[in-house]
Order: sequence, then C-alpha cells, then structure tokens
Amino acid sequence: MRVLVLPCLAVLSLVSGCGKSSKPDATADKPVQSDRSEKKDRAGDPVKTDKPWRTDPLLVGRFHPDYPDDIQVTVQDGGPRLTKHVPESMWVRVTGQAGKAYRGTLLNKPHNLTSVREGDEILFLAGPKGIDPFRVTPKYMQERKRWHILPCRKCGMPELFDAPSDLIAVIFPKLTGRKDIEEMKFTCFCQLCGGVQLVSDKPIKGWDDRSHR
Ligand SMILES: [Zn+2]
Repeated sequence: MRVLVLPCLAVLSLVSGCGKSSKPDATADKPVQSDRSEKKDRAGDPVKTDKPWRTDPLLVGRFHPDYPDDIQVTVQDGGPRLTKHVPESMWVRVTGQAGKAYRGTLLNKPHNLTSVREGDEILFLAGPKGIDPFRVTPKYMQERKRWHILPCRKCGMPELFDAPSDLIAVIFPKLTGRKDIEEMKFTCFCQLCGGVQLVSDKPIKGWDDRSHR
C-alpha cells in the first residue's frame, strides 16, 4: 500500500492593526411614534408574547420606558479599516431573533451612514455587559462561527465590526483566497476603545470564546 505523504504546511501568523478606533455618535434621535398598541386581554393585563429580548439580562433596562421593544443600537457601516463613517447610536424596534443575534427595524434616518436607511431591518448583538448593543451583518454572523476572538483587554469587546474576510482583504490582500495557510492569526485594534483584540481561525491557547458567548 502506498502511503500518501502530505507536505507540512507552514503556520502563518500575521500581526497587524485594523486601524484607529471610532466611537459612536451619541446624538441619537428619539424613537418615532407609530401605531404601537400593547395588546391586552379582557382583564386588562398585557397578553404574553414570545419576546425574549425583553427579559435578556444584557438588554433589560435599555429599552425605552414607553416603547418596550425600542432600544438604542450602535450602528456602523463597518470598522475604521473599511469606512470613515462614524458609528451612530440609533433607535431600533426589536422584532425577533436570528441565531445569537436579534433582528429589528431602524426607526431613525442615519446622519452619515450609507449602508442602512430608516425602515431597514438590521441584526444586532447584545453585550457583553457594559457594552451597548451593536449592529452585525449576516455575513459577519456566518463567518464568525469559524473564528476565535480574544476580547479587547480594555473594554471586553468580543466581536469585530467587519467580517474577517473583508478585513483580511484589506490588511493582507495577497492572501485572499489562499488555501495553503494553516493558521491565520492577527491582532486588531478594538473598534470601541482602541484596545487590542486577537483574531485567529484556530482556538486561542488558554481561551475558549465559545464559553463566553
Ligand atoms: Zn475595547
């Protein structure tokens, strides 16, 4: 029997910054009025509905007092590597879940963002504690499953504002599409506070981010 010997592939570890951090524009408008009307049963009590976001410990206390599904979300066109547009804090009416993310409708017009419009449906993630809910894209959520991120040491941000493939295309354009890289690892400046995150397509030694999600 012949033995197939595969060449040993070199581990490629890449270190690069993702760019300066950017803080959201805190001048969010207030949620708009709508035909919202809380359904009530005959006794006058609210009808129980399947709205898990209302009891999510990471979101409790963040909803508008008069609009229990409206919450401020940090919305961005992407991280500073991919856009110069400053993130904005925008009102979102939560409508459901999509895996680990929530989905909701944008209630305001963005001031400078170009990837979203009033009325669009977006996805966002809650937390971790102390961090405002922030927008993610379906592409990011899909790619995120294959990546490990060591959270920012300063603020604990465990996510990126860009899909890893989009970041790599900008930071390491020559590597896009390469199949012969055994490990891809790079550092990235946190897009909230400028701290450092470590991103890898292999588990990071001593860190299992799945247990923190
Ligand atoms: Zn940070």
